[in-house]
Amino acid sequence: APVITVHVPLGDRAYDIFVGRGLLGEAGARIAALGARAAAIVTDSNVGALYGGALADALQQRGLRASIITVAPGEATKSYASLETVCDAVLEARIERGDLVIALGGGVVGDLAGFAAAVARRGVRFVQVPTSLLSQVDSSVGGKTGINSRHGKNLVGAFHQPSLVLADTALLDTLPIREMRAGYAEVVKYGLIDDAGFFDWCEANWQGVFAGGPERNEAVAQSCRAKAAVVVRDEREEGDRALLNLGHTFGHALERITRYDSARLVHGEGVAIGMCLAFRFSAFLGLCSADDATRVERHLVTVGLPTRLQDVPGGFGTVDELLDGMAQDKKVKAGALTFILARGIGQSFVAHGIEIAKVRAFLNHEI
Ligand code: NAD
Ligand code: ZN
Repeated sequence: APVITVHVPLGDRAYDIFVGRGLLGEAGARIAALGARAAAIVTDSNVGALYGGALADALQQRGLRASIITVAPGEATKSYASLETVCDAVLEARIERGDLVIALGGGVVGDLAGFAAAVARRGVRFVQVPTSLLSQVDSSVGGKTGINSRHGKNLVGAFHQPSLVLADTALLDTLPIREMRAGYAEVVKYGLIDDAGFFDWCEANWQGVFAGGPERNEAVAQSCRAKAAVVVRDEREEGDRALLNLGHTFGHALERITRYDSARLVHGEGVAIGMCLAFRFSAFLGLCSADDATRVERHLVTVGLPTRLQDVPGGFGTVDELLDGMAQDKKVKAGALTFILARGIGQSFVAHGIEIAKVRAFLNHEI
């Protein structure tokens, strides 16, 4: 099957992302090409049961010493306790700096294993084998790794770029549909940020993406290209990289209000509602047309994503709770908010200093 390569040109830390159906079958050769002697595979129990053995066997056939470290699935695993478990297991497996930590899983495993790789022995090489759509199109690219603290999500971490990313799109065949849709929200996001043609493409090709046709590879590869381009411009998130937060200021507030309870809301669902709110807010401010906002919503509804505050199971709280949730976001400075707004589809921009009063007026109008 054809493999699409996306190169991420980050100087001496440049790396390749390979996207294709069935790549796990060639993982042994591609990973062995990095020249390590040993690899510690970090995975969660769901993914490990499905694919852990196949990856370990493929590495052993190429002469690498492979061990598997299994953590519990779920966001709670991005913790200090799991970091300790993974670091100790990496050391126990005698992983040296030139060896590899391999993240086999979704964004939870990728963030945790990547952070363990960044700090164990002050940094060992790291390979991402993302298995959820969200991790294939977003979290495995860009080098942000970390865990959660009692003070908030992703507040303890490091930038640590992978040496290689292998996105086998066949692995998504076993991903629960709700997780598939949630990851798809991030795919659509890239079109909305700065690529109207890609949004058109999504409207025309989403069924192939969900069904696992060649469109799925194309969507993953195009998303990786888009994210990589932003990361290369702004590796440490000082400017442009903020555009990737389209839909996330509202989305994070909803995740907080629903207490990160994945039974109620998963991240991509919050982002879907958040992107619709960002477009409707842009229309409310007279920046984009109401038709653009409607078109965004129509596509997300078509694929089965939530798009309105009223879609949050168990309720979204009050306008004040939403504003509080946004004010806790790290993008807030002194009473004003930074939002990603849009002048149209594919024409998003970073808007600093949006007054809380305007946001309040908009939210009152929404409910
Ligand atoms: P996840 O890792 O929890 O995976 C979702 C669920 O799907 C889990 O239960 C997992 O076991 C299961 N799963 C994964 N792949 C599967 C497969 N192929 N078959 C069957 N089941 C499978 O969640 P996620 O959505 O992948 O990632 C969310 C995390 O990513 C969050 O912690 C978020 O903060 C992080 N994130 C990080 C970045 C970054 O730049 N580092 C960007 C976005 C999100
Ligand atoms: Zn996101």
